[in-house]
Amino acid sequence: MILVYVDHDRGEIDALALQVASAALGLDDDVQAVIVGPNAEKCADELSAVGIRTVHHGVHDKIADYTPLACAKAVIEVMDKSSARAVLAAGTPRGSEVLAHVAAIRDLPLVTECSEIALTGADTAEVTRARWGGNLLERSKVTGSPLLATVQAHAFAVADAPGSAQVESFEVPVTDADLMVGIVDRTGAAATGVGLAEAKVVISGGRGMDGPEAFAMLEELADILGGAVGCSRVVTAAGWRPHAEQVGQTGTKVAPELYLAFGISGATQHIAGCKSAKTLIAVNTDAQAPIMTHADYAVVENLHTLLPVLIEKARAAKGA
Ligand code: FAD
Repeated sequence: MILVYVDHDRGEIDALALQVASAALGLDDDVQAVIVGPNAEKCADELSAVGIRTVHHGVHDKIADYTPLACAKAVIEVMDKSSARAVLAAGTPRGSEVLAHVAAIRDLPLVTECSEIALTGADTAEVTRARWGGNLLERSKVTGSPLLATVQAHAFAVADAPGSAQVESFEVPVTDADLMVGIVDRTGAAATGVGLAEAKVVISGGRGMDGPEAFAMLEELADILGGAVGCSRVVTAAGWRPHAEQVGQTGTKVAPELYLAFGISGATQHIAGCKSAKTLIAVNTDAQAPIMTHADYAVVENLHTLLPVLIEKARAAKGA
C-alpha cells in the first residue's frame, strides 16, 4: 500500500495532491490518502477520481486549520497501523514540512522533489530528483521503510481512475506541543480567479514592469485569456506583488500551456519555476537577456509599449 498525504485549504484540495496520487498508482494498486482537519472530507470525491479508495480523515477538536506537526502525527498514526511501503506528498512547502516532521520523528530519510520513483526492494528505492532548482537531476538509492518522498510539481500527469472512496475518520493523537505552530489569522485579500499552479496561461512580470502600477495591465490580459498573474522574486521582494504570485525555485512551479514573461531576465531560479511551460514567450528590451535563450518566442520590445496593443488585440480576438 502507498499512503499519500493530501493537503487542503479549508476543504479546497491542493491540486498537486492529485498528481501525487497518480505517481503512487504507478507503484501499487492500493493507494490510500490521509487528510487532516475540518472540511477535509470534501476532498474525497476528487481523490476517488484518481484511484484512491480509502481516505483516512484525521480529526481532533483542537485542529481547526493547517497545523504541520499535527498533520505529521496523523500521517504517522496511519503509517504505523498500515503496511505502507511508501508515504508520498506534494513537493510544496506544506507537503515538505509535514513529511520532514514525519522523517525526524521516525528517524527516516526523506527524499524531496522526486520526478521518478521505483521501489526496488523491501526497504530500498531508487529515485530521480531535481536539485539546484532543476538544473541537476540526481539519481539516488534510498534505504529505509517506508520510503518518505515528496513529488516534484507537474512531474506526473493526473490519472483517470474513477471509483468511490471510503472515508474513515480517526482521532489524531496530538498534544498541546503539537499544536504550537499553526495558522492563527489570515490577512490580505483572499485569492480569486485561476490558481497559479494549475493555470493554463500564466502572465508574469519582473523588474522591467518598473513598479506595481503596470501589473494592472497583466491582470487585464490574464482576465481576457483566463490566466493567472505571476512575477519574479525581485517583484515580491520590492512588495509590488504578494509572495503567492512568485514563480521560481522559491516560489510556485507552474506548467501552463502558455507562459508570458514581461521584463524578466531569466535567472536560473526563475526558470526553475517555469521551464515546464509548453510555450514560453519572453518580452524584453535586451535581446541578450538569458530568458531569450529559453523562450520559444523572444520579443525584443518595450513592454510598456507592447502590452496595451496586446490587450487590445486579445480583447478583439476573444470578443471580450
Ligand atoms: P532583473 O534580473 O533585474 O531583470 C529585469 C529584466 O527586465 C531585464 O532583463 C531587463 O532587460 C528587462 N526590462 C527592463 N525594462 C524593460 C522594459 N521596459 N520592457 C521589457 N523588458 C524590460 N527569482 C525568481 O524569480 N523566483 C525565485 O523563486 C527565486 N528564488 C531565488 C532563490 C535564491 C536562493 C536566490 C539567490 C535567488 C532567487 N531568485 C528568484 C532571484 C533571481 O536570482 C533573480 O534575481 C530574479 O529572478 C530577477 O528578477 P527579474 O528578472 O525580475 O529582474
